[in-house]
Amino acid sequence: MQNSLSHWSLSLLIFVFAGCAVPQEQKVIQEKAKLPHISVDTFPILSEKKIELSKLYCEKYYGLDDIRLMNPDMVVIHFTAIPTLESTLNLFKKDELSSNRSYIGSYSKLNVSIHYVIDKNGDIYSLLPDTLIARHIIGYNHVSIGIENVALDESELTGSQLESNTKLVNFLKSKYPSINYLIGHDEYNIDSLEHTKFYKSLDSTYAPYDKPDPGQKFMQDLRQNLDSLYGLEFRK
Ligand SMILES: [Zn+2]
Repeated sequence: MQNSLSHWSLSLLIFVFAGCAVPQEQKVIQEKAKLPHISVDTFPILSEKKIELSKLYCEKYYGLDDIRLMNPDMVVIHFTAIPTLESTLNLFKKDELSSNRSYIGSYSKLNVSIHYVIDKNGDIYSLLPDTLIARHIIGYNHVSIGIENVALDESELTGSQLESNTKLVNFLKSKYPSINYLIGHDEYNIDSLEHTKFYKSLDSTYAPYDKPDPGQKFMQDLRQNLDSLYGLEFRK
């Protein structure tokens, strides 16, 4: 009697555990399926040299021994200050900074880089995997995913870009629930904002300076869109 009861209990246990294992697998598939659809073209900019320069950069300014971006905390929005997609992609293709970037060039030869570029018509391009650290903002590259918008200045940013930024930020938040902050590049050196707790630069002279991009209006519209369309409210 004792034995058959044990057998029965064991069978019940196996049944319960087997029952748990299947939904676990289904859950992963369901969560992937929940990602909102966005159309992204790839335009890879990675090279051996860029990886080498990135390693040096991450070690020197963030004290990191690899260039992986794990559990990002924020998304940073920019405009390129370059008028066309073609010239933007040409710039990001280079491994080393152009000689006119004298301030940041004095700290590292690593070219500026970005995860996503959005053209004026709203087309989205992926340049770097968002699991790698890019060089797009002093002090926050180790915690942020960057989005560039093709525009010479704030007045050139389009409604299509606003729409694509909204979709892309929503997509990134679904992909990385760790993202709780959204800032414009021009907000990165406002000391009163909460995101500044992530600031890191092991060389205190390599510090933020005033940037114009993307401007208050664009960020205000983007935040409003994210809230009204997806119920997303990010911290600054
Ligand atoms: Zn910028």
